Amino acid sequence: LQRLKDGLSRSSSAIGDGIVSIFTKRKLDDETLEELENVLIQADLGVTTATAITEALAKGRFGKDISDAEVRAVLAEEVTRVLSPVASPLVLDGARKPHVLLVVGVNGSGKTTTIGKLAAKFRAEGRSVMLAAGDTFRAAAIEQLKVWGERTGTPVIARAVGSDAAGLAYDALTEARAKGVDVLIVDTAGRLQNKTELMAELEKVIRVIRKVDPTAPHDTLLVLDATTGQNALAQVEVFGRVAGVSGLVMTKLDGTARGGILVAIAAKHKLPVHFIGVGEGVDDLEPFDAREFAEAIAG
Ligand code: GDP
Repeated sequence: LQRLKDGLSRSSSAIGDGIVSIFTKRKLDDETLEELENVLIQADLGVTTATAITEALAKGRFGKDISDAEVRAVLAEEVTRVLSPVASPLVLDGARKPHVLLVVGVNGSGKTTTIGKLAAKFRAEGRSVMLAAGDTFRAAAIEQLKVWGERTGTPVIARAVGSDAAGLAYDALTEARAKGVDVLIVDTAGRLQNKTELMAELEKVIRVIRKVDPTAPHDTLLVLDATTGQNALAQVEVFGRVAGVSGLVMTKLDGTARGGILVAIAAKHKLPVHFIGVGEGVDDLEPFDAREFAEAIAG
């Protein structure tokens, strides 16, 4: 929590400093509201939410003196209102053997790290976990996942670089089934440079998984890097179309000036946000809490 606060304090200090400089000894009028709206848009909250916040603030207060503390309180309230409906825990169905989690996202977003953190978390809850190194395109991704497997005591199904990702997913699911594993987490490629190829591969992985279990994947998590700002919005659209994203994890909130993008995504896509990444370590994954996040943003 402290790390989230420290990290987000960068985005919030941008907003917070903005609020202080706008509202020190000034009235709430068209000019100050417009300045506030600009600060919020700069912080990636999105035009819709920025407008909603300034409107909520103006209601009953227009023309009056206002303190920056009051502005922050309204901001936290309004951001909580946007985030509350999407803050939802990831629920694993214990009856499924395995519950299949497909993890998608662009390279560098923190997919592998998040998979490692999830594996540790599920294991700590007493579940058996298996990982599939489905990013068969990058040797480093396969190696990274193996490292996380060792670190968390989780078996990793991997093949040589260049192997067919769908075939690997098929084998991993078959083996997980045979062994009665609780959770299978499938990593995927994320090279957005070749969108058509990537999307064809993801579709194939999903198709093949469904041959083994027509109800799978049970969750498709999109991992988003908070530091990419507006790009994250585009990624939600692209991966949503192809992979049918069911929930989000936002990483790198410990070191970003751009946590506000999560508010814009929540307002626009209303996808469940399950976890946030607040560091590179195994324990640096936290369930998403709307009010905590909103208060950290408001400073
Ligand atoms: P992938 O290419 O999507 O699999 O990304 P990786 O999991 O390899 O992560 C890319 C880099 O981001 C690595 O250096 C990770 O340690 C780092 N990373 C991942 N999640 C976080 C996070 O929540 N906070 C920070 N500070 N770094 C992270």
